[in-house]
Amino acid sequence: MSFKICLLPGDGIGPEVTAAAVSVLERAAAQHHFAFTTSEHPIGGVALRTSGLPFPDATRQAVLAADAVLLGAVGAPEFDREPPVRKPETGLLQLRQALGGFANLRPVLRYPNAGSTPLKDEIVTGADFIVVRELTGGIYFGQPRGFAPGRQSAHNTMVYSVEEIERVARIAFSLAAERRGKLTSVDKANVLEVSQLWRETVIHVAADYPGVKLDHLYIDNAAMQILLRPRDFDVLLTGNLFGDILSDEAGVLAGSLGLLPSASIGGRVGLYEPVHGSAPDLAGQDVSNPLGAILSAALLLRYSLRQPAAAQAIEAAVARTLADGLRTRDIAGGGASLGCRAMTAAVIARL
Ligand code: NAD
Repeated sequence: MSFKICLLPGDGIGPEVTAAAVSVLERAAAQHHFAFTTSEHPIGGVALRTSGLPFPDATRQAVLAADAVLLGAVGAPEFDREPPVRKPETGLLQLRQALGGFANLRPVLRYPNAGSTPLKDEIVTGADFIVVRELTGGIYFGQPRGFAPGRQSAHNTMVYSVEEIERVARIAFSLAAERRGKLTSVDKANVLEVSQLWRETVIHVAADYPGVKLDHLYIDNAAMQILLRPRDFDVLLTGNLFGDILSDEAGVLAGSLGLLPSASIGGRVGLYEPVHGSAPDLAGQDVSNPLGAILSAALLLRYSLRQPAAAQAIEAAVARTLADGLRTRDIAGGGASLGCRAMTAAVIARL
């Protein structure tokens, strides 16, 4: 078995965290008897500098020909004043559009004493859930949208079809069935018709997953409950707008942006990327946290390459590294810390 992984290291700390993830993948492949080849392509600022485009055609062709895509991060301050066509972040939007992943998965796991969160330890320790956000529909894409003449009013349209809700719900139910068997669907069904259709459809899909316990929360209450009792959640399913807000809020529980992985699946090719950006303030210093990228590689193994044992081994190695007290600067709380390369080596040593 040999897989093709397309690497898009991007800008800032993107290349160093991507290299970290690849070296962990190499060790996992050797141990779990699968093989992969990689090809590297420019996106974002690095692509703009060489081709004038943030998502060149050669990169588009390469991602569509791969079994999975691993992205570092995009963004560089030199493009801050450029128009959208010359912004690195536009490349990311074009990439997501090309791949079409409609389910965005953001696992949130609180490792003991890793990083700082404003919440008490007894509330957050042991929190372990996944936010599944619908990514290609809802109010961010609904038509009509725009300003009325004179800009005295503006409008957007929140729209979901049964098909769009069903396909993302199935991904969330399947995940819950493999985890602790709990799914919480988040909506605003007390006010919005689109949320009423969301809820009806999720209840309908639930019939196919008898092993999963379904409950529902309104978004305003969900925003409160994930901070009050984060350990009670397993899989949270929600639409694009609510999921955008909820997944960022949930990220606070983890203790650092550098710890958070993500996956966008359901489209033509799966896209895996750490949640953080290019962190230009850290670039080239070997001080970034590679764990978000390494955990994204584990998701790539689980969802695109179907190598669950290797994925689990990587996640366990990360947990052991942290349990042994090893920290990068962002999660060291002022104490001793390792650089990106040494932290990666520590994970590999525990694989
Ligand atoms: P950022 O995530 O790059 O950084 C926010 C803060 O978190 C910074 O203090 C940074 O040092 C720290 N940080 C981020 N990743 C870290 C890691 N792995 N280890 C340790 N610390 C880490 O967000 P920003 O500063 O708002 O944006 C910087 C650039 O990244 C901008 O150009 C922005 O558009 C872009 N961006 C890209 C993505 C992406 O590629 N998916 C996401 C967010 C922002």
